[in-house]
Amino acid sequence: MKKIVAMILVAMLALAGLTAMAETLTMCTNVAFPPYEFYGEDSEPTGIDVEIAKAIAEKLGYELEIVDIEFAQCIPGVQSGKYDFSAAGMTVTEERQQMVQFTDTYATGIQVIIVPEDSEMASLDDFVDANGSVKVGVQMATTGDLYTTWDYEDEGKGTVDRYTTGAAAVQALLAGKVDCVVIDNEPAKNFVAQNEGLKILDTAYAVEDYAMAFAKDSPIYEDFNNALAELIEDGTVQGIIDTFIPAE
Ligand code: GLN
Repeated sequence: MKKIVAMILVAMLALAGLTAMAETLTMCTNVAFPPYEFYGEDSEPTGIDVEIAKAIAEKLGYELEIVDIEFAQCIPGVQSGKYDFSAAGMTVTEERQQMVQFTDTYATGIQVIIVPEDSEMASLDDFVDANGSVKVGVQMATTGDLYTTWDYEDEGKGTVDRYTTGAAAVQALLAGKVDCVVIDNEPAKNFVAQNEGLKILDTAYAVEDYAMAFAKDSPIYEDFNNALAELIEDGTVQGIIDTFIPAE
């Protein structure tokens, strides 16, 4: 009898330990991707991804911890279980689906091309036609990196310089080290607004869906995705998006 009581006690303690551990959800992201994630005036991370993740965590009764890492480390970090999930303006791609599982999509991204204001080029192919090759700046491991690598570097039509943040790629453009930067449209608008002498070309490069990424064996994936679906359904997600992307 005593033995059974002891076993039950041990089991209860173990359970309590587990619940205590599960109280915090760790989200990894690269906090240099406005308006999806950036440091607000209080120096705390905010933005569309951050606020949606907070709303989901609150709905499920978790604390949310945000860890600021390189975008390239987000998928490996989720896969290895170091972080519970990643919300990083991340595009759903077939390659990534081999490595992680994605939630429902909650936003659309467009890969656009930033060039100096006085550039006469209307597309990347124009650069290649005029100069024989193009120097593209991207954020490492993003879809902008993948697509331009396939379409230009692998085809011998140019070089791709990979930076750890989109902001660093834009600095390289301002310094004349690259001809253009390929990056998601909303961050692009932010970077162009913050820096003199840049514009976004009308020709979009690719249209994509954003979703949050989880390890394939994540125990919280289903609850999390259900909560996200409810917040999409009841308009909370659109409300958050509208706060950070005011209608033009
Ligand atoms: N949407 C792009 C991608 O998933 C860029 C995301 C980012 O830089 N945070 O690759």
